[in-house]
Amino acid sequence: MQPFQFSRSSDLQSASSAYLAADTAESDVAHSRSQYLAGGTTLLDLMKLGVMRPERVVEINDLDRTNAGRIEFGGNSLRLGALTRMSAAADHPDVRRDFPVIAQSLQLAASAQIRNMASLGGNVLQRTRCSYFRDTSYSNCNKRDPGSGCAALDGINRSHAVLGTSEGCIATYPGDFAQALIALDAQVEVLGRNGPREFPFAKLHRQPGQTPHLETTLAPGELITAFLITRAPFTRRSLFLKVRDRESYEFALASAAVALDLNGHTIKQVRIALGGVATVPWRAHEAEARLVGDKIDDTSVRDAADLAFAHARAREHNAFKVELGKRTLTRALRQAAAMEI
Ligand SMILES: Cc1cc2nc3c(=O)[nH]c(=O)nc-3n(C[C@H](O)[C@H](O)[C@H](O)COP(=O)(O)OP(=O)(O)OC[C@H]3O[C@@H](n4cnc5c(N)ncnc54)[C@H](O)[C@@H]3O)c2cc1C
Ligand code: SF4
Repeated sequence: MQPFQFSRSSDLQSASSAYLAADTAESDVAHSRSQYLAGGTTLLDLMKLGVMRPERVVEINDLDRTNAGRIEFGGNSLRLGALTRMSAAADHPDVRRDFPVIAQSLQLAASAQIRNMASLGGNVLQRTRCSYFRDTSYSNCNKRDPGSGCAALDGINRSHAVLGTSEGCIATYPGDFAQALIALDAQVEVLGRNGPREFPFAKLHRQPGQTPHLETTLAPGELITAFLITRAPFTRRSLFLKVRDRESYEFALASAAVALDLNGHTIKQVRIALGGVATVPWRAHEAEARLVGDKIDDTSVRDAADLAFAHARAREHNAFKVELGKRTLTRALRQAAAMEI
């Protein structure tokens, strides 16, 4: 592992200053010379593998004593501090009752040990599990080394994405929690050199296009402080369905985060996000539009699933994800409609 400077910050401002001390305004976050360290469950792996080589690591776990480490309910909203551990949010009784898709997306992620250690902020910024990205003996990975090519295009691409891909990168976004956040129209709160700002979580991740190494819209040094979710008529009737190779713990082959507001059997509002199949947490707007005003039945859910994958582009080993993704979505919609709330 490359040597690095280590520091520890207990307040937001000093964390940001320590990060920026080793960084340049031009560098993208994933290749930045500084990295924040929260649970360390993914950053340390990538440093040991030589995939990430920061010169400075700024530990931010002491921030969990601030509101960046708390779960707070306002009158109409939920604020999840970014230093909250995945297990704390997954097990919180009010989160489970009022925002089930959030709790389930975390409960079905990783293992109990990892969930106890890992933070929500680190979870949304975890990097792809593409094996060519994680193995530095492959020289052609545009995400790791811009302009070097993509070994996965003609390689073993069973776990890779079918939505939002480009000729430069087909890596799947691996996390689960992010799908729940975009399904519920969450906002993300960040703190950077110009102070705090808040924006839709759906704008955090970037599709690969010609610049797969640019993964988020965060500026260098910006620290995620919280995720904000407003209660809506669909937040309670929401769920997360995940299909994976083994049940004990594994990343998704396909997942669906859905939220429904029903008037009798008629769909007033619906939110759909897909995971395991796309390069970023994927909102299926066309599928949502198809369902509004209709009922959940064989025709409507099948139409919605077809629309969700209408622009899918499969490669040699991952064509099965198109049908698997559609089935996952149709099952999730049926289960959400049948929920007793
Ligand atoms: C075996 C295994 C299985 C897993 N399975 C799943 C799964 O099924 N589903 C799933 O969703 N995840 C899964 N994960 C990933 C796991 O959930 C993440 O490793 C974890 O959530 C990362 O959180 P962390 O706090 O440990 O992040 P860290 O490793 O500390 O940090 C990750 C990145 O985020 C940055 N960062 C951290 N916090 C902040 C912040 N507040 N602001 C700005 N930058 C920040 C760091 O600089 C770093 O670049 C798995 C991991 C492992 C090892
Ligand atoms: S899919 Fe993306 S991450 Fe994987 S090898 Fe290609 S460029 Fe790298």
